[in-house]
Amino acid sequence: EFSSGRGRLKQARLAGDRRDLYPHSLQFYLEPPTENISLVEFESFAIDRLKLLKVVENLGVSYVRNSDSYKTKLEFELRKLKFPYKALAEDDYEARRKDHISHFILRLAYCQSEDLRRWFLQQEMDLLRYRFNEVTDNLRQKFLEHVNLSFEAVSEDLKNELANELYTSTPGLSMTKVKEQMFYKVGLADAVDLFRARRVFIKDGFAYVPFKEIDVIVLSNYRTKLSKALALTARSLPSIQSDERLQPLLNHLSHSYIGPDYSVQKNTGKISLEQIDTLSVKSFPLCMRQLHKALRDNHHLRHGGRMQYGLFLKGIGLTLEQALEFWKKEFIRGKVDADKFDKGYAYSIRHSYGKEGRRTDYTPYSCMKIIMSNPPSQGDYHGCPFRHSDPELLKQKLQSYKIPPSGITQILELVKGMHYQLACQKYFELTHDVDNLGFSLNHPNQYFTESQRLLSGGRELKKELSNSGNSQQKSNSQESMNSNSTPTSSNTTADAELEGLEAYFTED
Ligand code: SF4
Repeated sequence: EFSSGRGRLKQARLAGDRRDLYPHSLQFYLEPPTENISLVEFESFAIDRLKLLKVVENLGVSYVRNSDSYKTKLEFELRKLKFPYKALAEDDYEARRKDHISHFILRLAYCQSEDLRRWFLQQEMDLLRYRFNEVTDNLRQKFLEHVNLSFEAVSEDLKNELANELYTSTPGLSMTKVKEQMFYKVGLADAVDLFRARRVFIKDGFAYVPFKEIDVIVLSNYRTKLSKALALTARSLPSIQSDERLQPLLNHLSHSYIGPDYSVQKNTGKISLEQIDTLSVKSFPLCMRQLHKALRDNHHLRHGGRMQYGLFLKGIGLTLEQALEFWKKEFIRGKVDADKFDKGYAYSIRHSYGKEGRRTDYTPYSCMKIIMSNPPSQGDYHGCPFRHSDPELLKQKLQSYKIPPSGITQILELVKGMHYQLACQKYFELTHDVDNLGFSLNHPNQYFTESQRLLSGGRELKKELSNSGNSQQKSNSQESMNSNSTPTSSNTTADAELEGLEAYFTED
């Protein structure tokens, strides 16, 4: 059950009159939900919202917001995932309920760090902006009243009196438009974004905001409310963390990986060790290319790198025997002798293949896991270069990989906006000479598979991948739901198990 809400909500629930909870298809999500829901519904709502927010992020950098393509694609996604997509007056109760509950679940998952909060806030803001601009004027007005943002309309007389000032201080409005538009008197605190951008006329402590700019005010108000709510939720985290059913789920969500886990590969044993150098240049994402190069240069990787790279290699199809040979050959070229390798490192490799200890078959790390946890320190090569490298070093690296200057600029822009996976997608497009990836990148092994598919011109792999992706996703969610205490192969379990595994990586 969600934390207790206020009286009004509770009463509505008890009276069985839940439709009253959602008078509008838009929400500011001010009250947490108070009903009981099953863990299955909890997880599926959360995953759907995550998918939606990922699409919002992707569209936000690929299209001009509010352009037709942006709107069409977002509407398609909202419909597909069964979220409210237009201001439907009736019959979207289920969609509104899902919207409400899923927002609060992700709030729990995404309040846990500054990075997560910022990402969540940005996508939720974009989503609200789109929805707000889609509703009719009439419904918009009603919504504003509902969230106590009904501003005083400027009378026709006053508007005519100020017409010149309004025209000169409001970019994008002709004199005719000034005469046609409604203007509102808004307190300066609410209009700070417009004021800062010098896009509004100010008089006597009020901003005179044209109707078409009201969304800026609404969004600024929403941002303030949501940031505060996220900070408050973060403070109540200890009590949530003690809930053993929810905590693994929320952690899993905040690592936000919702695709196949690449633990089972059909091409196991199909890659030879001799191919790895070439593959690292052609088909490895930057994180793995960097690890491979560091390993070849230093004949050693510290444990964070061995975990990240070792599991990736396993995911692309290296057998246990190949992994042992690969790591040993490289390490004994450095300071580790064969005996030390066998005693200190071979065990951990067998362990990661599920042949030792608790015999867990470990899954390769997803992008979000790499981006969000265990940042590299001095002397480490793991992590995500788009997230963890200094931009200047990243630029030099991309230059050395012959990425054209315009591409580097685009990548650095995405990095600046903290869209690390999109920066990686751009890197993929540039290195594979394709315009539009047609998939959303979430996993280094997905990068590899897609690259191989493209380079070989084959379609079969894609088919296999999407089939296995669906079934994997399904089985993951079933596993984590059916056996809350002992799931066997979800990433959540792997996270917990890896903590055990790290004990075996005592040598740096
Ligand atoms: Fe690796 Fe993912 Fe970062 Fe790309 S986005 S470099 S695949 S962690």
